[in-house]
Amino acid sequence: MAVSSSLSATGIRWDLSDLEPDAAQARRDWNELLGRARDFAERRRGTVGRVGAEGLRELLDELDALTQDISRVHFYATAREHTDATDPETNDLATLARDKAADLESLLMFVELEWIALDDAEADALLAAAELDPYRHKLRVAREEKPYVLPEGEEQALNARRPAISAWEALHGRELATLTVEFDGGDGSEPHTIDRLLSYVHHPDRELRLAALDVLYGALGEVADVQSACYDAIVGDRLSIDRLRGIPDPMWPTNQRNELDGAVVETMMAAIEEHYPIGRRWFVRKAEALGLDRLQLADQYAPVGSDRRVEWTEAVAMVDDALRDFEPRLADIFRTCLERGHVDAEPRPGKVGGAYCNSVSKTVLPYILMNYTDQLRDVVTLAHEFGHAVHGTLALERQTYRSYHTGLALAEVPSTFAQLIAVERLIDLEEDPATRVMLLADRAESAMASIFRQTLMARFEGRAYAARGEGKALTRDRLAELWLEENARYYAESIELPEGYRLGWAYIPHFIHVRFYTYAYAFAHLVAFSLLARYREDPERFAPAYLEFLASGASRSPQELLAPLGVDLRDPQTWAHAFAEFDRCVHEAAVGVDELGSG
Ligand SMILES: [Zn+2]
Repeated sequence: MAVSSSLSATGIRWDLSDLEPDAAQARRDWNELLGRARDFAERRRGTVGRVGAEGLRELLDELDALTQDISRVHFYATAREHTDATDPETNDLATLARDKAADLESLLMFVELEWIALDDAEADALLAAAELDPYRHKLRVAREEKPYVLPEGEEQALNARRPAISAWEALHGRELATLTVEFDGGDGSEPHTIDRLLSYVHHPDRELRLAALDVLYGALGEVADVQSACYDAIVGDRLSIDRLRGIPDPMWPTNQRNELDGAVVETMMAAIEEHYPIGRRWFVRKAEALGLDRLQLADQYAPVGSDRRVEWTEAVAMVDDALRDFEPRLADIFRTCLERGHVDAEPRPGKVGGAYCNSVSKTVLPYILMNYTDQLRDVVTLAHEFGHAVHGTLALERQTYRSYHTGLALAEVPSTFAQLIAVERLIDLEEDPATRVMLLADRAESAMASIFRQTLMARFEGRAYAARGEGKALTRDRLAELWLEENARYYAESIELPEGYRLGWAYIPHFIHVRFYTYAYAFAHLVAFSLLARYREDPERFAPAYLEFLASGASRSPQELLAPLGVDLRDPQTWAHAFAEFDRCVHEAAVGVDELGSG
């Protein structure tokens, strides 16, 4: 299990040399970039609306090249900070990166501001020109911010404060990354990161599951004051800037970046809440299967059937096959990223938890961070992150840098889809009936985690913003109260929540980095379920259309991008189709559990 100190991904660390050779070169590059940006600003400032479509195209191409170099140098610092949080050179570089990135943003923001300042007739005339094809959609979306943008001097002043706000985020992250606790997972007491403690919720030994969560909540108790202070400062700051801008709804910035109408999001979240009983019925069923009267929180993801250890090399082969079976091009991207050392899979102290993919630029392949703990579900995470990587790679081949990156909600669709096809393959090929049941249950529970839990997190955030907006401080006790209430709406009586779970909000990084991020997972899982159903109906037609969707990046709206795949976001029936697929997964898991019990 994940508790051994000899994890199979030991030594799978990324090679950052495609980004920078070393910190000294990164420092020189930051200075060079600042020089380029100053030169760009001197030549281009005041020209956005006056150079015509062809001139604007040249300007945007030059900016596109510059922002890609910034992305590369910036990610070098971030990547080091995320894997070696205590190294002094890394900390200096990360501080430098935050400062320089803010300076660069201030220097370059005139392009957006001048573009947004144009009146509609001028902007429409430019948008009609063929020269601006590769930028049109993103330029149009940017203008939605027009009512909320402040004069440039004020925008500059706000931006100059960015490092101070980033420092709260960094403090929050560092507290968690460096938090290690002694825990005996069966091999003697050793230091455990939060991620490693959390991985015990999938352990077959109930005592160990309960003890690991106990130790986790105990450890969170020591940092919860700092974590709540960070969150309070960040939320307070966001709300006061919203007031300055006149943004009426704290969810608006996220919805706008997702290019989703607030009403579409609310319809989806309400539909999800109506389906909470799917989760509760499963937990009751699962308690029976485990021979318990009622599940404790630590039993939520307990394996039914049997888990098995998956070595890193086997995981790589499985994801490769799943992608190749769907479309060989995707598997080729996967192999190339691995061969070039763009994956960091080894869990270790000083490394951030979780997993992500960064699609750096048109000339650098994506980098992937994850914490591989030898469990079957880590294979799913690997597939998920490579769903992002293939999306980024194909979109960057076809689109400009500005137009490749979709909002968060759509960005999670290819990753979730990759995860679903990988899981389906694992289930189909698994020979051991008990392991197959474990996979069926895990698929259903992953969907519950994405669709139900991420929605309750977004509701929790909504209440936190509302409370802060009414002048109430977001102390650990207030956050605990809101957290438990939203959790109770989902779990009700089906799961017993331990006292320590009051601090369950304290280690969720999304709350800190992007407000209301989490509903993106719910959206994406439901959309991916719909896509999987379409794929099964007609694989021959679906695969090429799906590749076209990936390569289209963010050149159109989510509505326009998903329509050719048979998913209409404006139709409430879309969610009903997705829930039918969700239901099928839960049903198959329940049948599997029954068969295992009677066999
Ligand atoms: Zn993702």
